[in-house]
Amino acid sequence: MSSHHFRPTRAEVDAAAIARNTRRLLDAAGDGAQLCAVVKADGYGHGLVTAAQAALSGGATWLAVALVEEGIALREAGVAAPVLVLSEPPAAAAAALLAHDLTPTVYRAEFLHALEDAAVQRGEVARVHVKLDTGMTRVGVAAEDWDAVLALLAASDHLEVEGCQTHLARADEPDVPTTAVQLERFAAALDALRSFSLAPRLVHVANTAGALLHTPAWRAVLAAGAPGAVPLVRAGIGLYGLDPGPAVSAAAHGLEPAMRLVSEVSHVRRIDAGTPVSYGHRWSAPADGWLATVPIGYADGVPRTLTGRLDVLHRGARRPVVGTITMDQILVWCADVTPAVGDEIVLIGHAGGGAAGSAAGSAGIGMEEWAERSGTITYEIATGISARVPRVVVG
Ligand SMILES: *Cc1c(COP(=O)(O)O)cnc(C)c1O
Repeated sequence: MSSHHFRPTRAEVDAAAIARNTRRLLDAAGDGAQLCAVVKADGYGHGLVTAAQAALSGGATWLAVALVEEGIALREAGVAAPVLVLSEPPAAAAAALLAHDLTPTVYRAEFLHALEDAAVQRGEVARVHVKLDTGMTRVGVAAEDWDAVLALLAASDHLEVEGCQTHLARADEPDVPTTAVQLERFAAALDALRSFSLAPRLVHVANTAGALLHTPAWRAVLAAGAPGAVPLVRAGIGLYGLDPGPAVSAAAHGLEPAMRLVSEVSHVRRIDAGTPVSYGHRWSAPADGWLATVPIGYADGVPRTLTGRLDVLHRGARRPVVGTITMDQILVWCADVTPAVGDEIVLIGHAGGGAAGSAAGSAGIGMEEWAERSGTITYEIATGISARVPRVVVG
């Protein structure tokens, strides 16, 4: 993206809200726990470095990314905190990973061999966080391979098991039995580590929902199976103040949304009753009235599937977006209210500052609403706000 910004469309990111959310998540994780701030996918759309620095200032001691590339971007921005790469990188990334002092998640023998070779070449010991699958069935060492991979780690002079982790598949559902089943398997995994005399300094299980809903359960497993280790929480969505799922309210846990998506009216028209509007003429004016054009569209991350189901705030009132959502523009029905070019339009958040939910009771629009109305989750809405939208850091 060019650094020129003429279009008024922008995403305001409240760095202080991310810092406050970090503190609240640390509290939820209990005494002695540390927080690993998950800033993958450009800080869930909030800005990689903005999110990282805000979370560190709020008390996070670790950062996590999905890709080695994201970790290198943090280092190039001068971020010195430990950085965990959440999935095992391709073997070809092993040397770059060590050169940038990134900590890999590991689970495949092939990668361990490549990392060991790279560590030998550099004359150093590579610290790793081994991931044991306990029921997510995505990445991680499958139970039948735990012994083989742990034996490999225990035998290596150039690999140090600094961390041990697993990932919960249904942490955002308060009452499903599978979380307890996964925690039982993780207890067995910690036993397996001990049988290989592996004593990781850090042990981690919980994402945001795990920290908000299941802390007593996973803390008990860690206290019994790795009493000397520091419990770490890998929190992403909660840092940004967004619901991890329909059954877990971030606001109820004191978390505040950190992004406001705003634009301004760029064009106004008075149209007659019955005038058809936008591609496909899928909507016609129900009466004579005012139509406002706003320069944001699906190429900015407003899902086209929200056509007919999207509202915005204009002069403190909710108004419907009408007609098909287009690539670069949406149309707002103002009826009898005369809009003016330059009027603020809030797509996400509250009018006049403050992200949605931060002033309970007032009529904000949250990413939760977009997610629910478009059949997805907050994560996809946040990460879908495209690079074309400038991020403006406030707070
Ligand atoms: C993305 C991710 C997280 C963060 O999850 P949230 O639900 O956003 O808190 C934690 N752990 C792993 C392995 C992840 O991939």
